[in-house]
Amino acid sequence: MSDFFAGNSLVNMYAKCAFSEVSRSGTVSWSSMIGGRAQHGHGKNALLLFDEMLRDGVLPNHVTLVSVLCACNHAGPVTEAKKYFEMMEESFGIQPSQEHHACMIDVLGRAGKLDEAMDLVNKMPFEANASIWGALLGAVRIHKNVDLGQLAAEMLLTLEPEKSSTHVLLAKVYASVGSWENVAKVRRLMKDSKVKKELGMSWIEVKDKIYMFIVGDRSHSRSKEIYAKLKELGVLMAKAGYVPMIEIDLHDVEQKEKELLPAHHSEKLTVAFALIETPPGAPIRVKKNLRICLDCHTAFKFICKIVSWEIIVRDINRFHHFSDGSCTCGDYR
Ligand SMILES: [Zn+2]
Ligand SMILES: [Zn+2]
Repeated sequence: MSDFFAGNSLVNMYAKCAFSEVSRSGTVSWSSMIGGRAQHGHGKNALLLFDEMLRDGVLPNHVTLVSVLCACNHAGPVTEAKKYFEMMEESFGIQPSQEHHACMIDVLGRAGKLDEAMDLVNKMPFEANASIWGALLGAVRIHKNVDLGQLAAEMLLTLEPEKSSTHVLLAKVYASVGSWENVAKVRRLMKDSKVKKELGMSWIEVKDKIYMFIVGDRSHSRSKEIYAKLKELGVLMAKAGYVPMIEIDLHDVEQKEKELLPAHHSEKLTVAFALIETPPGAPIRVKKNLRICLDCHTAFKFICKIVSWEIIVRDINRFHHFSDGSCTCGDYR
């Protein structure tokens, strides 16, 4: 956690400094600016900054290029990413590593170019690692290709058998094409292998104190008000067109019915708490140890607009800045 806070304040510090006053020469300062923007979902901005860096005659290193490729996921079309990927060796003498390949495969996969992504996997000079198969599996979920999904999931299960997220993703691939028999098979597999899912939790810092919540948490002294706030927001959200959604969750099947509902997820409780505990103005900054779920992501787009309050969620993958009804991740969770 302290790493995260340190990292965050570094980014804030950079953002506060007029960038022109910070040394413009170092590859490292350019890279952290570009990386910060890419991570916060400001892909276009990151790419503009990269162009400026090159115009200034500063050479990128392999870290800069990871950020640039990752920024392409939010901003430019695939051609942009391909251009940078090809430039790496030709213009900067940097050989694309596993990580660069993973970014590129992610870009291709998200854009639905699954064949091209697979081509790159076959051509690259390494064995594909977990992040590459993970990127493919994520892409398959959006663009539906059961064969590739199965292959990616099987590879992931071999590489990281203890990770429950793989089982969940595989089940989602099957569910997306209505293959319920296979969903049930994965569910049984998980039960047998006793894969444990990390408990989702969210937290927020208010006046130098950390407040942490888990799903359905009622341990906080202001619990009653928190749930009342969520109820009140629920009514306004429904009026604005929000429809709750339930992601299939393979682990919670034996839990109480009410815990299956995303309405009381840890991140929602944390945001409701922040709404009643903190004065309006400053953005609400929530952290979560897992990926933000689809329902909470949708809900926050509504809530930020209803209460006219910026909400920032740092999940395990990236920052989500919710304001005026949308999120900077462009819904690429
Ligand atoms: Zn949620
Ligand atoms: Zn988002």
